[in-house]
Amino acid sequence: MKKLSLFVFIDGFGWEVYKKHGFNISIIKDAKALKTTFGFSSAADPSILTGRYPDEHTHWSSFYYDPINSPFKFFKYLSFLPKYIFDRFRPRHYLSKLVKIFYGYTGYFELYSVPFKYLPYFDYLEKRDYFVPNGILKTDTIFDWCVQNNIPYHCSNWRKSETYNINVLKKEIEKRQIEFTYLYLPTLDGVMHTYGTTKDETKNKLLWLEKQIEDVYTHACNNYEEVSLHIFSDHGMCDTIGSIDLISSIEESHLEYGKDYVAMYDSTMARFWFMNQAAKIKIQNILEKITEGSIVEHDELKRMHVFFEGNRFGEIFFLTNPGILINPSYFGLKVIPGMHGFHPNHKDSNALIFSSTKIDENIKSITDIRKVMEKEIKNEKR
Ligand SMILES: [Zn+2]
Repeated sequence: MKKLSLFVFIDGFGWEVYKKHGFNISIIKDAKALKTTFGFSSAADPSILTGRYPDEHTHWSSFYYDPINSPFKFFKYLSFLPKYIFDRFRPRHYLSKLVKIFYGYTGYFELYSVPFKYLPYFDYLEKRDYFVPNGILKTDTIFDWCVQNNIPYHCSNWRKSETYNINVLKKEIEKRQIEFTYLYLPTLDGVMHTYGTTKDETKNKLLWLEKQIEDVYTHACNNYEEVSLHIFSDHGMCDTIGSIDLISSIEESHLEYGKDYVAMYDSTMARFWFMNQAAKIKIQNILEKITEGSIVEHDELKRMHVFFEGNRFGEIFFLTNPGILINPSYFGLKVIPGMHGFHPNHKDSNALIFSSTKIDENIKSITDIRKVMEKEIKNEKR
C-alpha cells in the first residue's frame, strides 16, 4: 500500500481556541476556520460525515416532541423517585445505559437532566451508531462511501478512550492495509467545558494532542510511502459570562406543562411546542422581554438549514447570546465555564481544518469536510 489519508477529529477545537494557543504539527501547511452548523454535536457530527446540513440528513437536536411514539412512557412511574438521588449524573448515567440496552440503541444516549415526568413527551434521535455504515437512514456517510468504493478504512470506536483508539490505529497502520482513517479524539471538548478556553488544563490537553498526532503521523510515515494529514473539528467553544433562569421565567406564566405547552431546555437553546394559541402568545411575550437572548425566526432557521416542517424540533426557538447559559437546563444543573451551541455566526462557534496540503478556496463549512475526504482518498487511487 502506497498512501494513507489520515483524518483526525478533535471535538470542540474552535478556530479561536487555536488562535489563543496555537497548534504545532510539523507537517501542517494550511489552516482555515470553518463555519459550524446551528445546534449541538448531534447536528454537527452527522453534518461532517454526510457533507449535508441537518435539514437534509435530519439529525438536529437529540430530543424531539413525539408523545405518541415516545420510548420513555414508563418514566412517568419513576417521577416520584427522590430528586436528590436521581437528579445526579451517575444514577442517570446508569439508567441511560439500561434504557440503551433495553431498546438496543447503538448510538450515543444520555438522559442528561431531563425531568422524568417530562420525558414521555419526547423521542430520541440518535438511536443508531452513525460511525458505522448504514448509520444514518436518510443519506450516506463517508463510511458508506468507503464501502461502496471498496476503500479499506479504519474508524475509531467512540465508546473507548483516546489512548485506546490511538494504539489500535497504530496497529492498523502496521498492517498497511487501510487507505483512509478517521481518528476520533473527543476529550478536549470536555476539558474546555470544565475549565474554559484559557486555562492551563486546556493548553496542556492541546500539547498532549499535538504529541499524539505527531506520533501517529510519524508512525504512518514509517509504514507508508506517502501520508496526508488533516485535522478538523465540529464547532468551537465559548467562555461562559453569565446565565439565566429561563425555566423559572416561563413557570411564572402559570401555564401548565403538557396541557398548555411542552418545552425542551438545552444549555443555550429552548424549544417550545404549544397546545393552544393563548399559551404561545404568553410565552412569546416572556421570551421577547429577555435581553440575554432572542427568538430565532423560522426564516433564519431555513437559512441555517435546520428548519423542519411539522414542528418536530419546536415551534418557537429561543437562543441565548454567546457566553450566556440557560441554567438550570435539561442538560445540566450548574453553570460550567465553557459551552458551544450559540449562533454559528459568532466567532467562538467556528470550527477549523488543518491540512498537510493546500486547502481549496471552496472549503468553508464543516459540511465541506466530506468533500476534502473524498478528494484525498480519490487522489491516492490515481
Ligand atoms: Zn461539548
